[in-house]
Amino acid sequence: MKNTQPVRSTAEYQAMDAAHHIHAFLDQKALNEEGARVITRGEGLYVWDNEGKQYLDGMSGLWCTNVGYGRPELIDAATRQLKELSYYNMFFHTTHPAVVELSERLFSLLPGNYSHVIYTNSGSEANEVLIRTVRRFWDVMGQPDKKIFIGRHNGYHGSTVGSASLGGMAFMHEMGNLPIPGVEHIAEPYWYAHGGKLSPAEFGLKCAQELEAKILQLGADKVAAFVAEPFQGAGGMIFPPESYWPEIQRICRQYDVLLCADEVIGGFGRTGEWFAHQHFDFQPDTLSIAKGLTSGYIPMGGLVLSRRMAEALIAKGGVFAHGLTYSGHPVAAAVALANLDVLQGEGMVQAVKQDTGPYLQRCLREVFADHPLVGDIQGTGMVAALQLCEDKASRQLFANEDDIGWRCRTHGFDEGLIIRSTHGRMIMAPALAITRSQIDELVGKTRRAVDRTAQELGLL
Ligand code: PMP
Repeated sequence: MKNTQPVRSTAEYQAMDAAHHIHAFLDQKALNEEGARVITRGEGLYVWDNEGKQYLDGMSGLWCTNVGYGRPELIDAATRQLKELSYYNMFFHTTHPAVVELSERLFSLLPGNYSHVIYTNSGSEANEVLIRTVRRFWDVMGQPDKKIFIGRHNGYHGSTVGSASLGGMAFMHEMGNLPIPGVEHIAEPYWYAHGGKLSPAEFGLKCAQELEAKILQLGADKVAAFVAEPFQGAGGMIFPPESYWPEIQRICRQYDVLLCADEVIGGFGRTGEWFAHQHFDFQPDTLSIAKGLTSGYIPMGGLVLSRRMAEALIAKGGVFAHGLTYSGHPVAAAVALANLDVLQGEGMVQAVKQDTGPYLQRCLREVFADHPLVGDIQGTGMVAALQLCEDKASRQLFANEDDIGWRCRTHGFDEGLIIRSTHGRMIMAPALAITRSQIDELVGKTRRAVDRTAQELGLL
């Protein structure tokens, strides 16, 4: 597929961008010197830059374009809705058909223990709303002292003050006096790096039991909720040992601490189940959603509440002093519904579970099992990570793993593949719409990027 003619030269776009635009999570000065890559078009699994170079998008944008780029069904739904009702709010005792239809569909996909959703525009906002809603819930339940949240080191829940506080990214906390008061953190279940001599199962239990120790230290009557991603995304696509989630769930139930799953990446089919907690087989009280809800075509997120929470808030809560201008935006809702139609109608989640997911995971394990640079391969469905390491026998990580991961990622771009590095983990999460031949291309290009990195290190 040919790229359309660039409207301006890449250098012009880069100069204009450098003059006026602050980017996400990078050194702006360094970027301005290097010049941003200008992406101009996307279709299916591919994007093109302003020079016409084609990339296989191994990251589905930012874990979000689950149905791939440019689906006419979503575009038409947005256009129709823009013509019909381009905006209305939820403040004036009103609703509109798009949001009503979406909500009904959402709960037809979710297990029956969930009943209501508060819509937002993003995952960060979903987690901001989480903080307020959970605290309000405990007020309504007559336990106003239950206010503390427990998150995890190296967890990611967003970039606003509250959501970044729930997250455990030390470099984010260093900027801006985070976390806010009332948020504590426990260890992440990252066995490869921190498991030492423990087996994965022992380490998973140990990490989970840190939650119990923290609850006992703070007092169960003070702890509102534990919040975590079913598998860590931005932290490096880290899958916890199998022993982890059952123990976390036992602890939350025992001390009446709400279990809040951040499904912003894991939701909408990524693991081959509709929601990642179903893959790990635990039952959270809340689900934070975004990204795959609209396949990233338009911003939308939300906080899904269990029936128990929603019933208490509705029956006893009175006015909940919360609302966003764009909550349940009609165009976002129409796009989300069309997105769910495509995911369901084409059986994409099922395909990830039964066909493409197992195929990707098998190919990665076949290709990288004996690679001198790859110590571990984790993942399920359309999400995976390769752990780069210096010594496989002792699980020794590179001291300069950030640099090595970045080099590998850069080789990927060179090969026409978008893959991301998180420290020494190469992470991928392609669109669920991927075909087997595109998986071959993804794995082949990843192999070349990893090989080139290994050659530079003298390992191949
Ligand atoms: N939670 C998780 C698990 C995420 O991965 C992200 C974004 N990568 C967020 C929350 C924040 O979402 P957003 O960027 O839409 O605010």
